[in-house]
Amino acid sequence: MERTLSIVKPDGVKKNVIGQVIARFEKNGLRVVGLKLATLTKAQAEGFYAVHRARPFFASLTEFMTSGPVVLMALEGEGAIKKVRDLMGATDPKKAEVGTIRADFADSIEANIVHGSDAPETAAFEVGYYFNALELI
Ligand code: GDP
Repeated sequence: MERTLSIVKPDGVKKNVIGQVIARFEKNGLRVVGLKLATLTKAQAEGFYAVHRARPFFASLTEFMTSGPVVLMALEGEGAIKKVRDLMGATDPKKAEVGTIRADFADSIEANIVHGSDAPETAAFEVGYYFNALELI
């Protein structure tokens, strides 16, 4: 069993596809073990994406991530980290495989609907960043 952090980004919440994103995770054997709706502060978004601080799109990305409410969720399942990444598709929706969340719902490389942790260490950091032990089942 593995845990990972996923986010329905502000564009996903605005497009009213929260349920469709979660349904894809549930249909693929993942279980929601933590869930909250929140509007991130700039500082929270900057801390979350600290590894990208030097990238040219950092300011734009943190602006986007604070532009409206997001859904934060912890997911559990066998191979959960890779499973979520596979269901999300490539960062750029134009390059995402047919049938992935980003191919189906996303508009751009930045506004790409969904986040998923990319490795065990980042998953542990990211779940802990948004959830404390009492908020996880
Ligand atoms: P992910 O793991 O597929 O989410 O991609 P990354 O970790 O590389 O990037 C984190 C997030 O930054 C992506 O999901 C996008 O929202 C955004 N992003 C990545 N690459 C670019 C880019 O080239 N331009 C812009 N504007 N945003 C980007």
